[in-house]
Amino acid sequence: MPAQIGVTGLAVMGANLARNFARNGYTVAVHNRSAGKTDALLEAHGDEGDFIRTESLEELVQNLETPRRVMLMVKAGKPVDAVIDQLVPLLEPGDIVIDGGNSHYEDTRRREAALAEKDLHFVGVGVSGGEEGALLGPSIMPGGSQESYRALGPMLEKISAKYEGEPCCTWISTDGAGHFVKMVHNGIEYADMQVIGEAYDLLRSAAGLEPAEQAKVFTEWNKTNLSSFLIEITAEVLGHVDADTGKPLVDVVVDSAGQKGTGRWTVISALELGTPTSGIAESVFARGLSSQRSQRAIGQEVLEGREEQVELPEGFVEDVRQALFASKLVSYAQGLDMLDNAAAEYGWELKLDEIASLWRAGCIIRAELLDDIMKAYAAAEKPENLLFAPAFSKAIAEAVPAWRRVVATAVRLGIPVPVFSSSLAYYDGLRRKRLPAALIQGQRDLFGAHTYQRIDREGTFHTQWSGDRTEISADDTH
Ligand code: NDP
Repeated sequence: MPAQIGVTGLAVMGANLARNFARNGYTVAVHNRSAGKTDALLEAHGDEGDFIRTESLEELVQNLETPRRVMLMVKAGKPVDAVIDQLVPLLEPGDIVIDGGNSHYEDTRRREAALAEKDLHFVGVGVSGGEEGALLGPSIMPGGSQESYRALGPMLEKISAKYEGEPCCTWISTDGAGHFVKMVHNGIEYADMQVIGEAYDLLRSAAGLEPAEQAKVFTEWNKTNLSSFLIEITAEVLGHVDADTGKPLVDVVVDSAGQKGTGRWTVISALELGTPTSGIAESVFARGLSSQRSQRAIGQEVLEGREEQVELPEGFVEDVRQALFASKLVSYAQGLDMLDNAAAEYGWELKLDEIASLWRAGCIIRAELLDDIMKAYAAAEKPENLLFAPAFSKAIAEAVPAWRRVVATAVRLGIPVPVFSSSLAYYDGLRRKRLPAALIQGQRDLFGAHTYQRIDREGTFHTQWSGDRTEISADDTH
């Protein structure tokens, strides 16, 4: 019997996705550039379902039913192009090439256009959930043509995570939309992890709670509106003791956070789209600063903190929890706003309620909050910003006093809280009647004749700063 799907690239993600397909009753043809990984997979798990072992891409393709579905799970970047180049001559019109790796959405747009010219479908699929998710059910974000989704979607839905029985997989939109949404998911993940880190730092450095005590706090927080996978694993990490030293693991790990690039891509894309994603950006920069170990070593010697003595406000731990919730909400709001702007820029029809719904299980940012976010965007009147949805504007307003106290306390104590504070600035920026941007427009007009608009008259204006400082209409000249 020919296989319903072929998987090439059998490192952790590819092997686990292949197993997931097989465990769900599909016949899976498997291939890896070096045969060792294929053998290792089949030796350890060959009895989990119907696998067809293949040694070349030709053999892989020959073993597939038509239209062929070939899933690439190879290293993102050049390897994807290399495998596509080898694969394309072997395929027939209507076949579907699927890239399940963390590819950049612009690469996916380019590849989709190139394969469409050969009447082949190219589907960029965002897969979240890590190694375990790939095996047990990830959150899946497929882009590409709707036609390809008809042939592929049911299989992806079957292997995806389920939230109350609903698959965490739905067609996102054309070409690179799936990879774009996965990228933003990762950006939100960066921010989510950073705000948890800031909460930990405050509880440790300001409130003096040891990791073991904090493990209990996070376990309790996981029963509140913060309930999420990341809060759950934070409790686990904080409760873990290093076998060698007997110290909390978090105290023996080097405090420099790594990154593979999707957070950076999110910020670059946000800058290009002009969407203020300050929480996500600060979280990427915070990882960057943590990795500047040489500068940090000098900074510890030469930079004075002049911190203040601060008596912690009563209920500080609960304040931190509320600040964490509010900042997290802002990061989601910014990420979702970015999706809206990208939809306009790239001609995608992104349904934010559906996207929130498929993040509810399987992926790293899965959280109770996402069910409410889904409902907010499913409402007849969609909010222009998540924070404007009545349920969220109320929830964040309730957290604001605590949020201000926490940021003020952190600043006075010299504890950096870049996402807590920038998220609060974003919130205040959205609600202020007048922003200092008016002054910036004045400055721009003075040094560069960039013109400005007035609040009381239509049109574009320029003050003749180097002349008699009278104002002229700039509409004729610009
Ligand atoms: P890696 O990213 O480590 O890639 C290794 C695989 O790519 C191997 O099968 C390797 O083959 C193959 N490969 C590399 N270069 C080539 C090439 N030029 N031609 C053919 N095959 C090549 O594997 P992962 O399983 O970690 O990840 C796969 C994809 O999934 C990546 O895009 C990753 O970013 C993404 N992803 C990973 C997650 C994770 O938690 N690891 C989570 C979500 C997505 P060989 O064995 O012969 O070297």
